[in-house]
Amino acid sequence: MSAAINHVVIVGGGSAGWLTAAVIAAEHGRAAGGRLQVSLLESPEVPPIGVGEGTWPTMRDTLSRIGVSESAFFRDCDAAFKQGSQFIGWVNGQPDDYYFHPFVLPQGYGEANLVAEWLRHHAQVPFADLVSFQPHLCAAGKAPKQAQTPEFAAVANYAYHLDAGKFGLFLRRHCVEQLGVRHVPDHMVAVNAADNGDIASVQTREHGALAGDLYIDCTGLRSLLLGEHYGVGLIDQKQVLFNDSALALQLPYPQPDSPIASHTISTAQSSGWIWDIGLPTRRGIGHVYSSAHISDEAAEAELRRYVAAHGGGVECPAPRKLGFQPGYRQRFWHRNCVAVGLSSGFIEPLEASALALVELSAAMICDQLPATRERMDIVAERFNDAFSYRWSRVIDFLKLHYVLTQRSDSDYWRDNCRPESVPERLRAQLALWRQQSPSRYDLHRVDEMFPSASYQYVLYGMGFRPDADPAPRHSDQPERADRAFREAASLSRRMLAALPGNRELLAHIHHKGLPRH
Ligand SMILES: Cc1cc2nc3c(=O)[nH]c(=O)nc-3n(C[C@H](O)[C@H](O)[C@H](O)COP(=O)(O)OP(=O)(O)OC[C@H]3O[C@@H](n4cnc5c(N)ncnc54)[C@H](O)[C@@H]3O)c2cc1C
Repeated sequence: MSAAINHVVIVGGGSAGWLTAAVIAAEHGRAAGGRLQVSLLESPEVPPIGVGEGTWPTMRDTLSRIGVSESAFFRDCDAAFKQGSQFIGWVNGQPDDYYFHPFVLPQGYGEANLVAEWLRHHAQVPFADLVSFQPHLCAAGKAPKQAQTPEFAAVANYAYHLDAGKFGLFLRRHCVEQLGVRHVPDHMVAVNAADNGDIASVQTREHGALAGDLYIDCTGLRSLLLGEHYGVGLIDQKQVLFNDSALALQLPYPQPDSPIASHTISTAQSSGWIWDIGLPTRRGIGHVYSSAHISDEAAEAELRRYVAAHGGGVECPAPRKLGFQPGYRQRFWHRNCVAVGLSSGFIEPLEASALALVELSAAMICDQLPATRERMDIVAERFNDAFSYRWSRVIDFLKLHYVLTQRSDSDYWRDNCRPESVPERLRAQLALWRQQSPSRYDLHRVDEMFPSASYQYVLYGMGFRPDADPAPRHSDQPERADRAFREAASLSRRMLAALPGNRELLAHIHHKGLPRH
Protein backbone atom coordinates (compact mmCIF):
# COMPACT_ATOMS: atom_id res chain seq x y z
CA MET A 1 0.00 0.00 0.00
CA SER A 2 2.90 2.42 0.38
CA ALA A 3 3.99 2.03 -3.26
CA ALA A 4 4.99 5.27 -4.94
CA ILE A 5 2.71 6.76 -7.58
CA ASN A 6 4.94 6.90 -10.64
CA HIS A 7 2.66 6.06 -13.53
CA VAL A 8 -0.74 7.57 -14.32
CA VAL A 9 -2.78 5.72 -16.94
CA ILE A 10 -5.60 7.69 -18.53
CA VAL A 11 -8.16 5.65 -20.45
CA GLY A 12 -9.96 7.77 -23.06
CA GLY A 13 -8.82 10.47 -25.47
CA GLY A 14 -11.72 12.89 -25.68
CA SER A 15 -11.45 16.45 -24.35
CA ALA A 16 -11.48 15.10 -20.78
CA GLY A 17 -8.64 12.62 -21.30
CA TRP A 18 -6.31 14.99 -23.11
CA LEU A 19 -7.02 17.98 -20.86
CA THR A 20 -6.35 15.87 -17.76
CA ALA A 21 -3.20 14.40 -19.29
CA ALA A 22 -1.94 17.87 -20.16
CA VAL A 23 -2.58 19.38 -16.73
CA ILE A 24 -0.89 16.50 -14.90
CA ALA A 25 2.04 16.11 -17.30
CA ALA A 26 2.74 19.88 -17.39
CA GLU A 27 3.26 19.81 -13.62
CA HIS A 28 4.54 16.33 -12.76
CA GLY A 29 5.65 14.80 -16.06
CA ARG A 30 9.22 13.83 -16.77
CA ALA A 31 9.42 16.39 -19.61
CA ALA A 32 8.70 19.04 -16.95
CA GLY A 33 11.36 17.62 -14.61
CA GLY A 34 8.85 15.63 -12.53
CA ARG A 35 8.78 11.97 -11.55
CA LEU A 36 5.65 10.88 -13.31
CA GLN A 37 5.01 8.95 -16.50
CA VAL A 38 1.61 9.78 -18.00
CA SER A 39 0.15 7.34 -20.56
CA LEU A 40 -3.10 7.81 -22.44
CA LEU A 41 -4.92 4.86 -23.94
CA GLU A 42 -7.39 5.83 -26.65
CA SER A 43 -9.54 3.45 -28.66
CA PRO A 44 -9.30 3.91 -32.45
CA GLU A 45 -12.73 2.24 -32.60
CA VAL A 46 -14.67 4.63 -30.36
CA PRO A 47 -14.66 8.26 -31.50
CA PRO A 48 -14.88 11.07 -28.92
CA ILE A 49 -18.39 12.46 -28.48
CA GLY A 50 -17.55 15.41 -30.75
CA VAL A 51 -19.72 18.03 -29.02
CA GLY A 52 -18.81 20.39 -26.19
CA GLU A 53 -18.04 23.68 -27.87
CA GLY A 54 -18.83 26.23 -25.16
CA THR A 55 -16.42 26.83 -22.27
CA TRP A 56 -16.11 28.84 -19.06
CA PRO A 57 -13.41 31.55 -18.49
CA THR A 58 -11.39 29.06 -16.39
CA MET A 59 -10.28 27.58 -19.73
CA ARG A 60 -7.91 30.54 -20.18
CA ASP A 61 -6.06 29.61 -16.98
CA THR A 62 -6.04 25.94 -17.94
CA LEU A 63 -4.59 26.58 -21.40
CA SER A 64 -2.03 28.96 -19.96
CA ARG A 65 -1.15 26.42 -17.25
CA ILE A 66 -0.41 23.66 -19.79
CA GLY A 67 1.83 26.00 -21.78
CA VAL A 68 0.11 26.31 -25.15
CA SER A 69 0.09 29.44 -27.28
CA GLU A 70 -3.34 31.08 -27.29
CA SER A 71 -2.86 32.21 -30.90
CA ALA A 72 -2.09 28.62 -31.99
CA PHE A 73 -5.15 27.47 -30.03
CA PHE A 74 -7.38 29.98 -31.86
CA ARG A 75 -6.01 28.90 -35.24
CA ASP A 76 -5.92 25.14 -34.72
CA CYS A 77 -9.23 24.77 -32.88
CA ASP A 78 -11.29 27.17 -35.03
CA ALA A 79 -11.86 28.95 -31.70
CA ALA A 80 -13.70 32.20 -31.06
CA PHE A 81 -14.41 34.40 -28.04
CA LYS A 82 -17.29 33.77 -25.67
CA GLN A 83 -18.31 36.63 -23.36
CA GLY A 84 -21.31 34.97 -21.75
CA SER A 85 -24.74 33.73 -22.75
CA GLN A 86 -27.91 35.33 -24.00
CA PHE A 87 -31.15 33.64 -23.00
CA ILE A 88 -34.02 34.21 -25.38
CA GLY A 89 -37.60 33.27 -24.62
CA TRP A 90 -36.97 31.77 -21.18
CA VAL A 91 -39.15 34.16 -19.14
CA ASN A 92 -42.43 34.37 -21.06
CA GLY A 93 -41.61 33.61 -24.70
CA GLN A 94 -42.69 37.10 -25.85
CA PRO A 95 -40.71 38.82 -28.66
CA ASP A 96 -38.84 41.14 -26.23
CA ASP A 97 -37.95 38.30 -23.82
CA TYR A 98 -34.18 38.06 -23.51
CA TYR A 99 -31.43 38.64 -20.96
CA PHE A 100 -27.66 38.35 -20.75
CA HIS A 101 -25.47 36.42 -18.35
CA PRO A 102 -22.11 38.13 -18.97
CA PHE A 103 -18.77 36.95 -17.53
CA VAL A 104 -17.76 40.36 -16.15
CA LEU A 105 -18.88 41.05 -12.56
CA PRO A 106 -21.30 43.95 -12.07
CA GLN A 107 -19.53 47.28 -11.68
CA GLY A 108 -19.12 48.05 -7.97
CA TYR A 109 -20.05 44.47 -7.05
CA GLY A 110 -19.87 43.92 -3.28
CA GLU A 111 -19.41 47.65 -2.63
CA ALA A 112 -22.94 48.85 -3.17
CA ASN A 113 -26.47 47.45 -3.04
CA LEU A 114 -26.92 47.60 -6.78
CA VAL A 115 -30.19 45.69 -6.77
CA ALA A 116 -32.02 48.09 -4.45
CA GLU A 117 -30.99 51.12 -6.50
CA TRP A 118 -31.70 49.35 -9.78
CA LEU A 119 -35.26 48.58 -8.64
CA ARG A 120 -35.80 52.06 -7.18
CA HIS A 121 -34.66 54.12 -10.14
CA HIS A 122 -33.95 52.00 -13.22
CA ALA A 123 -36.33 49.04 -13.06
CA GLN A 124 -37.24 49.45 -16.74
CA VAL A 125 -33.61 48.62 -17.76
CA PRO A 126 -32.53 44.94 -17.71
CA PHE A 127 -30.30 44.37 -14.67
CA ALA A 128 -27.24 43.13 -16.61
CA ASP A 129 -27.48 46.01 -19.10
CA LEU A 130 -27.35 48.53 -16.26
CA VAL A 131 -24.58 47.04 -14.11
CA SER A 132 -22.25 45.67 -16.78
CA PHE A 133 -20.73 46.94 -19.99
CA GLN A 134 -20.40 43.41 -21.40
CA PRO A 135 -23.95 42.85 -22.73
CA HIS A 136 -23.44 45.96 -24.86
CA LEU A 137 -20.19 44.54 -26.28
CA CYS A 138 -21.99 41.29 -27.12
CA ALA A 139 -24.93 43.10 -28.72
CA ALA A 140 -22.49 45.09 -30.87
CA GLY A 141 -20.45 42.01 -31.89
CA LYS A 142 -17.29 43.34 -30.24
CA ALA A 143 -14.28 41.27 -29.20
CA PRO A 144 -13.28 41.26 -25.51
CA LYS A 145 -9.72 42.52 -26.14
CA GLN A 146 -7.52 44.39 -28.60
CA ALA A 147 -4.90 43.15 -31.05
CA GLN A 148 -2.15 44.40 -28.70
CA THR A 149 -3.60 42.70 -25.57
CA PRO A 150 -1.27 39.78 -24.71
CA GLU A 151 -2.32 36.14 -24.95
CA PHE A 152 -4.77 35.06 -22.23
CA ALA A 153 -5.12 38.65 -20.91
CA ALA A 154 -8.54 40.27 -21.23
CA VAL A 155 -10.05 43.72 -21.44
CA ALA A 156 -13.41 42.04 -20.74
CA ASN A 157 -13.46 38.59 -19.14
CA TYR A 158 -13.93 35.84 -21.73
CA ALA A 159 -14.00 32.11 -22.44
CA TYR A 160 -14.03 30.33 -25.81
CA HIS A 161 -16.21 28.65 -28.36
CA LEU A 162 -14.24 25.88 -30.07
CA ASP A 163 -14.40 22.91 -32.40
CA ALA A 164 -14.42 19.91 -30.05
CA GLY A 165 -12.79 17.52 -32.56
CA LYS A 166 -9.98 19.95 -33.37
CA PHE A 167 -9.51 20.73 -29.68
CA GLY A 168 -8.83 17.05 -28.89
CA LEU A 169 -6.25 16.81 -31.69
CA PHE A 170 -4.60 20.08 -30.61
CA LEU A 171 -4.28 18.85 -27.01
CA ARG A 172 -3.04 15.44 -28.14
CA ARG A 173 -0.25 17.04 -30.23
CA HIS A 174 0.82 19.25 -27.33
CA CYS A 175 0.72 16.37 -24.85
CA VAL A 176 2.77 14.04 -27.03
CA GLU A 177 5.22 16.50 -28.57
CA GLN A 178 5.80 18.91 -25.67
CA LEU A 179 4.78 17.20 -22.45
CA GLY A 180 6.07 13.66 -22.97
CA VAL A 181 2.69 11.94 -22.64
CA ARG A 182 2.80 8.39 -24.05
CA HIS A 183 -0.08 7.87 -26.47
CA VAL A 184 -1.31 4.29 -26.76
CA PRO A 185 -3.85 4.02 -29.61
CA ASP A 186 -5.56 0.78 -28.65
CA HIS A 187 -8.86 -0.58 -27.39
CA MET A 188 -9.23 -1.57 -23.75
CA VAL A 189 -10.87 -4.99 -23.60
CA ALA A 190 -10.79 -5.71 -19.85
CA VAL A 191 -9.87 -4.35 -16.45
CA ASN A 192 -7.54 -6.59 -14.42
CA ALA A 193 -8.11 -6.44 -10.67
CA ALA A 194 -5.42 -6.82 -8.00
CA ASP A 195 -6.06 -8.93 -4.88
CA ASN A 196 -6.79 -5.86 -2.79
CA GLY A 197 -9.47 -4.64 -5.22
CA ASP A 198 -7.35 -1.96 -6.89
CA ILE A 199 -6.96 -1.93 -10.65
CA ALA A 200 -3.73 -3.81 -11.44
CA SER A 201 -3.75 -3.10 -15.18
CA VAL A 202 -6.00 -2.51 -18.16
CA GLN A 203 -5.93 -5.12 -20.88
CA THR A 204 -5.56 -3.82 -24.43
CA ARG A 205 -6.13 -5.56 -27.74
CA GLU A 206 -2.65 -4.96 -29.24
CA HIS A 207 -0.37 -3.79 -26.44
CA GLY A 208 -1.06 -6.40 -23.76
CA ALA A 209 -1.65 -5.28 -20.18
CA LEU A 210 -0.97 -1.65 -19.36
CA ALA A 211 -0.11 -1.30 -15.67
CA GLY A 212 -0.12 1.95 -13.71
CA ASP A 213 -0.48 3.27 -10.17
CA LEU A 214 -3.44 5.62 -10.72
CA TYR A 215 -6.11 5.12 -13.41
CA ILE A 216 -8.16 7.99 -14.74
CA ASP A 217 -11.44 6.96 -16.33
CA CYS A 218 -12.11 9.29 -19.28
CA THR A 219 -14.04 6.72 -21.31
CA GLY A 220 -17.10 8.94 -21.81
CA LEU A 221 -20.71 8.15 -20.98
CA ARG A 222 -20.07 4.39 -20.59
CA SER A 223 -17.66 4.96 -17.70
CA LEU A 224 -15.86 1.66 -18.26
CA LEU A 225 -13.65 1.76 -15.16
CA LEU A 226 -15.65 3.50 -12.43
CA GLY A 227 -19.14 2.69 -13.69
CA GLU A 228 -18.80 -0.74 -15.33
CA HIS A 229 -15.82 -2.26 -13.50
CA TYR A 230 -16.52 -0.89 -10.02
CA GLY A 231 -20.28 -0.61 -10.40
CA VAL A 232 -20.42 2.94 -9.02
CA GLY A 233 -23.87 4.07 -10.14
CA LEU A 234 -25.32 7.38 -11.25
CA ILE A 235 -27.37 9.59 -8.99
CA ASP A 236 -30.22 10.29 -11.37
CA GLN A 237 -31.18 13.96 -11.75
CA LYS A 238 -33.97 13.56 -14.29
CA GLN A 239 -36.56 14.61 -11.73
CA VAL A 240 -34.80 18.02 -11.48
CA LEU A 241 -33.37 18.68 -14.94
CA PHE A 242 -35.40 16.83 -17.54
CA ASN A 243 -33.27 17.09 -20.69
CA ASP A 244 -31.84 13.76 -21.87
CA SER A 245 -31.56 14.12 -25.66
CA ALA A 246 -29.88 16.38 -28.15
CA LEU A 247 -29.84 16.95 -31.90
CA ALA A 248 -26.63 18.64 -33.06
CA LEU A 249 -25.55 20.05 -36.42
CA GLN A 250 -22.92 22.30 -37.94
CA LEU A 251 -24.11 25.18 -40.09
CA PRO A 252 -21.96 27.14 -42.57
CA TYR A 253 -22.24 30.95 -42.57
CA PRO A 254 -24.16 32.47 -45.49
CA GLN A 255 -21.13 34.71 -46.27
CA PRO A 256 -17.44 34.21 -45.36
CA ASP A 257 -17.56 37.55 -43.50
CA SER A 258 -20.89 37.02 -41.68
CA PRO A 259 -20.71 38.32 -38.09
CA ILE A 260 -19.64 35.91 -35.34
CA ALA A 261 -21.60 36.21 -32.10
CA SER A 262 -19.27 36.51 -29.09
CA HIS A 263 -21.79 34.90 -26.75
CA THR A 264 -23.71 31.62 -26.72
CA ILE A 265 -27.29 32.17 -27.85
CA SER A 266 -29.66 29.90 -25.91
CA THR A 267 -33.22 30.04 -27.21
CA ALA A 268 -36.05 28.37 -25.29
CA GLN A 269 -38.26 25.92 -27.20
CA SER A 270 -41.45 24.11 -26.24
CA SER A 271 -39.61 21.27 -24.43
CA GLY A 272 -35.97 22.32 -24.24
CA TRP A 273 -33.70 24.92 -25.74
CA ILE A 274 -31.42 25.48 -28.75
CA TRP A 275 -27.75 26.42 -28.45
CA ASP A 276 -26.14 28.52 -31.17
CA ILE A 277 -22.36 28.84 -31.00
CA GLY A 278 -20.38 30.92 -33.50
CA LEU A 279 -16.93 29.73 -34.62
CA PRO A 280 -14.86 31.49 -37.30
CA THR A 281 -15.75 29.01 -40.08
CA ARG A 282 -19.20 27.71 -39.01
CA ARG A 283 -21.84 27.67 -36.30
CA GLY A 284 -22.57 24.76 -33.97
CA ILE A 285 -26.32 24.53 -33.35
CA GLY A 286 -28.18 21.96 -31.32
CA HIS A 287 -31.52 21.31 -29.66
CA VAL A 288 -31.38 19.77 -26.19
CA TYR A 289 -34.73 18.51 -24.95
CA SER A 290 -36.64 16.15 -22.70
CA SER A 291 -37.72 12.93 -24.44
CA ALA A 292 -40.54 12.65 -21.91
CA HIS A 293 -42.02 15.90 -23.23
CA ILE A 294 -41.39 15.86 -26.99
CA SER A 295 -40.69 13.27 -29.70
CA ASP A 296 -37.43 13.29 -31.66
CA GLU A 297 -39.37 14.18 -34.82
CA ALA A 298 -41.08 17.18 -33.24
CA ALA A 299 -37.76 18.28 -31.67
CA GLU A 300 -36.09 18.10 -35.10
CA ALA A 301 -38.92 20.14 -36.62
CA GLU A 302 -38.30 22.89 -33.99
CA LEU A 303 -34.57 22.79 -34.78
CA ARG A 304 -35.25 23.09 -38.51
CA ARG A 305 -37.60 26.02 -37.87
CA TYR A 306 -34.83 27.74 -35.89
CA VAL A 307 -32.31 27.23 -38.70
CA ALA A 308 -34.83 28.47 -41.29
CA ALA A 309 -35.40 31.63 -39.22
CA HIS A 310 -31.78 32.32 -38.18
CA GLY A 311 -29.55 30.49 -40.68
CA GLY A 312 -29.38 33.24 -43.31
CA GLY A 313 -30.87 31.02 -46.03
CA VAL A 314 -28.35 28.18 -45.55
CA GLU A 315 -29.89 24.73 -45.97
CA CYS A 316 -30.27 22.77 -42.73
CA PRO A 317 -28.04 19.64 -42.67
CA ALA A 318 -29.26 16.42 -41.04
CA PRO A 319 -28.68 16.62 -37.27
CA ARG A 320 -26.92 13.98 -35.19
CA LYS A 321 -28.88 12.46 -32.29
CA LEU A 322 -27.27 12.09 -28.86
CA GLY A 323 -28.79 10.66 -25.71
CA PHE A 324 -27.68 10.86 -22.08
CA GLN A 325 -28.98 10.08 -18.64
CA PRO A 326 -28.77 13.25 -16.54
CA GLY A 327 -26.88 12.46 -13.36
CA TYR A 328 -23.55 12.17 -11.61
CA ARG A 329 -21.70 9.29 -9.97
CA GLN A 330 -22.26 8.35 -6.32
CA ARG A 331 -18.52 8.91 -5.93
CA PHE A 332 -15.85 9.91 -8.39
CA TRP A 333 -12.64 8.49 -6.92
CA HIS A 334 -12.77 4.86 -5.81
CA ARG A 335 -9.63 2.94 -4.82
CA ASN A 336 -6.94 3.81 -7.45
CA CYS A 337 -9.43 4.99 -10.06
CA VAL A 338 -10.88 8.47 -10.59
CA ALA A 339 -13.43 9.46 -13.22
CA VAL A 340 -13.16 12.74 -15.13
CA GLY A 341 -15.49 14.04 -17.84
CA LEU A 342 -18.63 12.29 -19.04
CA SER A 343 -17.64 9.12 -17.17
CA SER A 344 -18.20 11.07 -13.92
CA GLY A 345 -21.61 12.36 -15.01
CA PHE A 346 -23.39 14.76 -17.30
CA ILE A 347 -26.41 16.94 -16.77
CA GLU A 348 -26.95 19.08 -19.84
CA PRO A 349 -24.92 21.67 -21.75
CA LEU A 350 -26.57 24.79 -20.30
CA GLU A 351 -23.84 27.20 -19.05
CA ALA A 352 -21.05 24.89 -20.31
CA SER A 353 -20.34 23.36 -16.92
CA ALA A 354 -19.00 20.00 -18.20
CA LEU A 355 -15.59 21.12 -19.46
CA ALA A 356 -15.25 23.44 -16.45
CA LEU A 357 -15.74 20.40 -14.19
CA VAL A 358 -13.07 18.55 -16.20
CA GLU A 359 -10.67 21.45 -15.61
CA LEU A 360 -11.45 21.53 -11.89
CA SER A 361 -11.05 17.75 -11.61
CA ALA A 362 -7.75 17.75 -13.47
CA ALA A 363 -6.48 20.65 -11.36
CA MET A 364 -7.39 18.95 -8.07
CA ILE A 365 -5.85 15.61 -9.11
CA CYS A 366 -2.71 17.47 -10.15
CA ASP A 367 -2.47 19.73 -7.09
CA GLN A 368 -3.29 16.97 -4.59
CA LEU A 369 -1.54 14.10 -6.35
CA PRO A 370 -0.70 11.58 -3.64
CA ALA A 371 2.93 10.50 -3.55
CA THR A 372 2.04 6.97 -2.42
CA ARG A 373 -0.91 4.58 -2.66
CA GLU A 374 -1.25 4.77 1.12
CA ARG A 375 -2.17 8.46 0.95
CA MET A 376 -4.46 8.07 -2.03
CA ASP A 377 -7.59 7.24 -0.02
CA ILE A 378 -7.28 10.50 1.94
CA VAL A 379 -7.12 12.48 -1.28
CA ALA A 380 -9.96 10.39 -2.76
CA GLU A 381 -12.25 11.27 0.15
CA ARG A 382 -11.53 14.99 -0.23
CA PHE A 383 -12.05 14.78 -3.95
CA ASN A 384 -15.40 13.04 -3.50
CA ASP A 385 -16.56 15.68 -1.01
CA ALA A 386 -15.45 18.53 -3.25
CA PHE A 387 -17.12 17.17 -6.37
CA SER A 388 -20.36 16.08 -4.72
CA TYR A 389 -20.63 19.69 -3.57
CA ARG A 390 -19.75 21.03 -7.04
CA TRP A 391 -22.29 18.85 -8.84
CA SER A 392 -25.01 19.96 -6.41
CA ARG A 393 -24.17 23.60 -7.06
CA VAL A 394 -24.19 23.05 -10.84
CA ILE A 395 -27.64 21.46 -10.55
CA ASP A 396 -28.98 24.31 -8.40
CA PHE A 397 -27.60 26.91 -10.78
CA LEU A 398 -28.96 25.22 -13.91
CA LYS A 399 -32.36 24.68 -12.29
CA LEU A 400 -32.48 28.40 -11.47
CA HIS A 401 -32.74 29.06 -15.23
CA TYR A 402 -35.96 27.05 -15.40
CA VAL A 403 -37.78 27.39 -12.11
CA LEU A 404 -38.64 31.08 -12.43
CA THR A 405 -40.18 30.88 -15.86
CA GLN A 406 -43.61 32.41 -16.38
CA ARG A 407 -44.13 30.19 -19.43
CA SER A 408 -47.07 27.83 -19.17
CA ASP A 409 -47.39 26.94 -22.83
CA SER A 410 -46.19 23.34 -22.45
CA ASP A 411 -45.96 20.58 -19.85
CA TYR A 412 -42.18 20.98 -19.95
CA TRP A 413 -42.24 24.52 -18.56
CA ARG A 414 -45.10 23.79 -16.17
CA ASP A 415 -43.30 20.69 -14.84
CA ASN A 416 -40.11 22.70 -14.37
CA CYS A 417 -41.94 24.88 -11.83
CA ARG A 418 -43.30 22.00 -9.78
CA PRO A 419 -41.92 22.50 -6.22
CA GLU A 420 -40.94 18.81 -5.96
CA SER A 421 -38.59 19.27 -8.95
CA VAL A 422 -36.62 21.99 -7.14
CA PRO A 423 -33.66 20.92 -4.95
CA GLU A 424 -34.21 21.77 -1.30
CA ARG A 425 -31.21 24.06 -0.99
CA LEU A 426 -32.27 26.09 -4.01
CA ARG A 427 -35.80 26.35 -2.61
CA ALA A 428 -34.39 27.77 0.64
CA GLN A 429 -32.17 30.19 -1.24
CA LEU A 430 -35.07 31.43 -3.35
CA ALA A 431 -36.97 32.13 -0.13
CA LEU A 432 -34.03 34.09 1.27
CA TRP A 433 -33.45 35.97 -1.99
CA ARG A 434 -36.91 37.48 -1.51
CA GLN A 435 -35.30 39.65 1.19
CA GLN A 436 -31.66 39.86 0.06
CA SER A 437 -29.58 39.40 -3.08
CA PRO A 438 -27.39 36.39 -3.81
CA SER A 439 -24.01 37.00 -2.22
CA ARG A 440 -20.87 35.21 -1.11
CA TYR A 441 -22.84 33.99 1.93
CA ASP A 442 -24.75 31.64 -0.40
CA LEU A 443 -21.59 29.88 -1.53
CA HIS A 444 -19.06 28.26 0.76
CA ARG A 445 -15.95 27.54 -1.25
CA VAL A 446 -13.23 29.92 -2.35
CA ASP A 447 -13.13 28.31 -5.79
CA GLU A 448 -16.86 28.17 -6.55
CA MET A 449 -17.62 27.44 -10.17
CA PHE A 450 -20.42 29.99 -10.55
CA PRO A 451 -19.91 33.18 -8.53
CA SER A 452 -22.82 34.80 -6.72
CA ALA A 453 -22.86 37.47 -9.45
CA SER A 454 -23.89 34.76 -11.93
CA TYR A 455 -26.85 33.92 -9.69
CA GLN A 456 -27.82 37.61 -9.69
CA TYR A 457 -27.65 37.85 -13.48
CA VAL A 458 -29.88 34.81 -13.95
CA LEU A 459 -32.23 35.55 -11.05
CA TYR A 460 -33.02 39.10 -12.12
CA GLY A 461 -32.79 38.24 -15.82
CA MET A 462 -35.57 35.68 -15.20
CA GLY A 463 -37.73 38.44 -13.71
CA PHE A 464 -37.37 37.56 -10.01
CA ARG A 465 -38.03 40.53 -7.71
CA PRO A 466 -37.52 40.77 -3.92
CA ASP A 467 -40.63 41.16 -1.71
CA ALA A 468 -39.77 44.57 -0.37
CA ASP A 469 -37.42 47.31 -1.32
CA PRO A 470 -34.77 46.97 1.42
CA ALA A 471 -33.67 50.21 3.02
CA PRO A 472 -29.98 50.95 2.40
CA ARG A 473 -27.79 49.82 5.30
CA HIS A 474 -25.41 52.75 4.82
CA SER A 475 -26.51 56.23 3.89
CA ASP A 476 -24.01 56.45 1.02
CA GLN A 477 -25.35 53.26 -0.66
CA PRO A 478 -27.51 55.05 -3.25
CA GLU A 479 -24.60 57.28 -4.18
CA ARG A 480 -22.22 54.31 -4.52
CA ALA A 481 -24.66 52.37 -6.65
CA ASP A 482 -25.30 55.38 -8.83
CA ARG A 483 -21.55 55.80 -9.30
CA ALA A 484 -21.28 52.14 -10.32
CA PHE A 485 -24.07 52.55 -12.90
CA ARG A 486 -22.36 55.62 -14.35
CA GLU A 487 -19.03 53.77 -14.49
CA ALA A 488 -20.63 50.83 -16.31
CA ALA A 489 -22.18 53.21 -18.86
CA SER A 490 -18.94 55.10 -19.35
CA LEU A 491 -16.90 51.89 -19.76
CA SER A 492 -19.46 50.68 -22.23
CA ARG A 493 -19.11 53.84 -24.37
CA ARG A 494 -15.31 53.71 -24.27
CA MET A 495 -15.04 50.00 -25.03
CA LEU A 496 -17.54 50.14 -27.86
CA ALA A 497 -15.33 52.80 -29.44
CA ALA A 498 -11.99 51.09 -28.75
CA LEU A 499 -12.56 47.37 -29.21
CA PRO A 500 -12.42 45.68 -32.61
CA GLY A 501 -15.22 43.55 -34.02
CA ASN A 502 -15.19 39.90 -33.09
CA ARG A 503 -14.49 38.57 -36.59
CA GLU A 504 -11.95 41.34 -37.22
CA LEU A 505 -9.84 40.39 -34.19
CA LEU A 506 -10.10 36.66 -34.92
CA ALA A 507 -8.87 37.30 -38.49
CA HIS A 508 -5.97 39.32 -37.06
CA ILE A 509 -5.06 36.49 -34.69
CA HIS A 510 -5.10 34.00 -37.56
CA HIS A 511 -2.67 36.13 -39.58
CA LYS A 512 -0.44 37.76 -36.99
CA GLY A 513 -1.16 36.19 -33.60
CA LEU A 514 -1.42 37.95 -30.24
CA PRO A 515 1.62 39.20 -28.32
CA ARG A 516 2.96 36.59 -25.88
CA HIS A 517 3.67 37.56 -22.27
C1 LIG B 1 -25.26 17.43 -26.53
C2 LIG B 1 -24.07 17.79 -25.71
C3 LIG B 1 -23.59 19.09 -25.74
C4 LIG B 1 -22.49 19.45 -24.95
N1 LIG B 1 -22.07 20.74 -24.94
C5 LIG B 1 -21.11 21.10 -24.06
C6 LIG B 1 -20.67 22.45 -23.97
O1 LIG B 1 -21.12 23.33 -24.69
N2 LIG B 1 -19.71 22.74 -23.07
C7 LIG B 1 -19.16 21.79 -22.26
O2 LIG B 1 -18.34 22.13 -21.41
N3 LIG B 1 -19.51 20.52 -22.38
C8 LIG B 1 -20.46 20.15 -23.24
N4 LIG B 1 -20.81 18.85 -23.34
C9 LIG B 1 -20.03 17.85 -22.60
C10 LIG B 1 -18.73 17.61 -23.36
O3 LIG B 1 -19.01 17.14 -24.66
C11 LIG B 1 -17.86 16.60 -22.64
O4 LIG B 1 -17.77 16.94 -21.28
C12 LIG B 1 -16.45 16.60 -23.20
O5 LIG B 1 -16.47 16.45 -24.58
C13 LIG B 1 -15.61 15.50 -22.58
O6 LIG B 1 -16.02 14.23 -23.06
P1 LIG B 1 -15.18 12.98 -22.60
O7 LIG B 1 -13.77 13.18 -23.00
O8 LIG B 1 -15.47 12.71 -21.19
O9 LIG B 1 -15.83 11.77 -23.43
P2 LIG B 1 -15.68 11.35 -24.97
O10 LIG B 1 -15.46 12.52 -25.85
O11 LIG B 1 -16.85 10.47 -25.26
O12 LIG B 1 -14.35 10.47 -25.03
C14 LIG B 1 -14.32 9.13 -24.61
C15 LIG B 1 -12.98 8.53 -24.98
O13 LIG B 1 -12.92 7.23 -24.41
C16 LIG B 1 -12.33 6.37 -25.36
N5 LIG B 1 -12.77 5.00 -25.12
C17 LIG B 1 -14.03 4.53 -25.00
N6 LIG B 1 -14.00 3.19 -24.86
C18 LIG B 1 -12.71 2.82 -24.86
C19 LIG B 1 -12.03 1.58 -24.75
N7 LIG B 1 -12.69 0.43 -24.62
N8 LIG B 1 -10.68 1.58 -24.83
C20 LIG B 1 -9.98 2.72 -24.95
N9 LIG B 1 -10.57 3.91 -25.06
C21 LIG B 1 -11.91 3.96 -25.01
C22 LIG B 1 -12.82 6.90 -26.71
O14 LIG B 1 -11.97 6.44 -27.76
C23 LIG B 1 -12.74 8.39 -26.48
O15 LIG B 1 -11.44 8.81 -26.80
C24 LIG B 1 -21.87 18.46 -24.15
C25 LIG B 1 -22.32 17.16 -24.17
C26 LIG B 1 -23.42 16.81 -24.93
C27 LIG B 1 -23.90 15.40 -24.91
